[in-house]
Amino acid sequence: MLKQRILRPVVRLSDVVSRLAAEDFEVPLPELAQVDEIGDMAQAIGIFRENGLERQRLERERDADRSMRDLLSRMTQRLQGCGSSNDLVSVVACFAPEIAPAFAGRLYIYDEQRNSMAEACSWLSPRDSRIEFPPNACWALRRGQTHRPEGKLIDIPCAHLDGPDYHRPICVPLTAQGETTGLLYFELRENADEASAALAEKYLEMLAENIGLALANLRLRDTLRDMAMADPLTGLGNRRQFDVMLRAHTAEAERNGTPLSCLMVDVDHFKRFNDENGHDAGDAVLRAVGALLANATREEGLAFRYGGEEFVLLMPGFTTERARERAEKIRQKIIDLKVDYRKKVLRGVTASIGVATAPDHGRPEALLRAADAALLRAKAEGRDRVLVATIREATSAAA
Ligand code: GH3
Ligand code: MG
Ligand code: MG
Repeated sequence: MLKQRILRPVVRLSDVVSRLAAEDFEVPLPELAQVDEIGDMAQAIGIFRENGLERQRLERERDADRSMRDLLSRMTQRLQGCGSSNDLVSVVACFAPEIAPAFAGRLYIYDEQRNSMAEACSWLSPRDSRIEFPPNACWALRRGQTHRPEGKLIDIPCAHLDGPDYHRPICVPLTAQGETTGLLYFELRENADEASAALAEKYLEMLAENIGLALANLRLRDTLRDMAMADPLTGLGNRRQFDVMLRAHTAEAERNGTPLSCLMVDVDHFKRFNDENGHDAGDAVLRAVGALLANATREEGLAFRYGGEEFVLLMPGFTTERARERAEKIRQKIIDLKVDYRKKVLRGVTASIGVATAPDHGRPEALLRAADAALLRAKAEGRDRVLVATIREATSAAA
């Protein structure tokens, strides 16, 4: 009786206690239904065991959380070191499957010109989402928040998914400073482990936030670089700078009711010049023309290299007539240009110039096109001349 009711249960319980003491909380509890001190003791040991199991589970979660956070912070560091969007894409392709191994996915980057979301990279072979689609095909992009059409809440799937079967798709928009720069798309892999999926899901938005921010930073840097960069050959402002300055002077001219003239200057038969004298000689001429134009606009106006052998001058406050006169002087100076090049003197360069003025030729936004139309006509009429845009050219430029 003693052996049956006391000794054997106590031995079994003490065995359990020593395994619990060794943190082996998986140890099975003996079934002791007795209503006495030994029964109470068994119950207390049971509670102790449950607590231990729960603590172990929390610790495991905390460890997983910690390694996830480590991964995320490592990715963020790499993202911050990215000098180009290619760099960024390879960082995402490397880290995303580590952070969310239960999900296949794809990074889309917004292509402004085509107004589309285009694949930048993918990992673990996603099956359901198209590689390119218009932004309004995605509910996450429309609403500016994560879209999970399957799972706890039933919702409509996005139009960029090819059904009928979906694999728990999750779309997370990439935004920064209120602008959408792309999309992170995920879908559950076959045979994915549920616990690992649940853990990863908690981090998808944090992942998207980091990538979105890095993308926005890159864009900002590109814009600044383009704007800051002068044309290396001539030292003049480049086309981007011209766009910015045109906008600024447009606003000012409209505010003050003053004219704004634009001169489009294109070197004549420059291809032939290159062919006859070599590209380096051509470069020397472009440098000289650039310096001449910078000089001609030193006091009033601004000169830019628009591209190739094309230059554009912005002359705030210049009426059509004054701009035409200035253009004529410039044309003459180009004819007189002598460029020393490797013990030779290069000469005989000519240029054609188109002139347009706001408000005579319409609003300032159309100025460049009107000046370009006049330039084309100057070329057609034999080159080496200055022509002012006609009203018809101005009207079609404004259209
Ligand atoms: P047009 O009188 O009709 O303007 O004839 P074009 O030959 O000047 O015009 P086209 O547009 O056919 O050719 C432009 C040439 O300018 C071709 C290209 O080799 C040359 N070019 C463009 N950029 C540079 C440059 O940076 N350096 C040199 N050396 N040549 C350039
Ligand atoms: Mg030319
Ligand atoms: Mg040209």
